[in-house]
Amino acid sequence: MKFEINLTKTTQSRLPELDFNNIPFGKVFSDHMFIADYKDGEWTDLRIVPFGPFEMHPANMTLHYSQTIFEGMKASKNKDGVPLLMRPELHSQRLNASADRMCMPHVPEALFLQALHELIELDSEWIPSIPGTSLYVRPYMYATDEFIGVRPSETYKFVIFTCPVGSYYDKPVDLVTEQTFVRAVNGLTGEAKAGGNYAASLLPAKLAKEAGYDQVIWMESPEFKKIQEVGTMNLFFVIGDTVVTPALSGAILKGITRKCFLEILAKKGIKAEERDIYIDEIVEAHLDGNLKEIFGAGTAAVVSHVASLTHNDLKMTLPPLAEREIGNMLKREIDGLRDGSVEDIYGWFVPVGAAVTA
Ligand SMILES: *Cc1c(COP(=O)(O)O)cnc(C)c1O
Repeated sequence: MKFEINLTKTTQSRLPELDFNNIPFGKVFSDHMFIADYKDGEWTDLRIVPFGPFEMHPANMTLHYSQTIFEGMKASKNKDGVPLLMRPELHSQRLNASADRMCMPHVPEALFLQALHELIELDSEWIPSIPGTSLYVRPYMYATDEFIGVRPSETYKFVIFTCPVGSYYDKPVDLVTEQTFVRAVNGLTGEAKAGGNYAASLLPAKLAKEAGYDQVIWMESPEFKKIQEVGTMNLFFVIGDTVVTPALSGAILKGITRKCFLEILAKKGIKAEERDIYIDEIVEAHLDGNLKEIFGAGTAAVVSHVASLTHNDLKMTLPPLAEREIGNMLKREIDGLRDGSVEDIYGWFVPVGAAVTA
């Protein structure tokens, strides 16, 4: 099924103003955006229009009750200049899973994919081609009823916009275990990419920064022993020759990078486990000299190496970056798949504009 998407092109591209060698993260937006309005049970008025602000009613329900969800993905150009998307269908499926939890309508996968392809094809010149750079893609949905009672909205907007992002050097991060605040508990909204989750994480992150750390490791309440995630990324440990990551429990975001890493590790025959991980085990591995690596996994940075992890009075310093075989390999693999220097034996990459047949 092909949807009718109305196109209004910008009369003045802002592309000439962009310095591809110096792109600030998340502040520069491409020329166009996709918008659809949900009313009377269907997505209507599908359109690609020049990027610009929305007018919003003061009683817009999202502003009051946070019925809003998002996705984050990247488009990149391979070395032949072909724009590629990585596993876009997984992002569509996760958006709909988030929608279920937040009492919002699905975006049909075929609509999500068609809108994504048409938008990125139109703005493909905004995809940076310098190694390590990409076009960050932000699909999201929010409630638009003008009403201050608490109930699911009956109308929504689904929007996709994109931002070119530069290659930024990720300094290894100093982490601390968070033993006061939680990101997620089973039964709450931690598995959804829902706006409110991030608002709730700001205070603990701010306090950690004031105490000299870059981010917190989230743990399960009320014991604060079982490890969940780091900041807004999934978490991996290398203990001896085994890679371990917390099992999906209902309180962990189902990261697509995490999923890719597990599939790459399986393909390469590297031992990897999804299971419960407790901080005591990490401390013990550190004391035994077996804690080789800790890294975060997410779309934006791919791999975020951990310099140190502090738990109570113990600061565990991780080995030098050059010795981080697993994290470095996974980053090289994903970057290589994106630029085409590593063959896509996984079948994850889709050329932008490819016939959409979901
Ligand atoms: C988005 C996100 C991740 C990573 O997901 P990716 O699909 O790999 O980008 C991990 N944890 C949280 C809390 C997130 O919001």
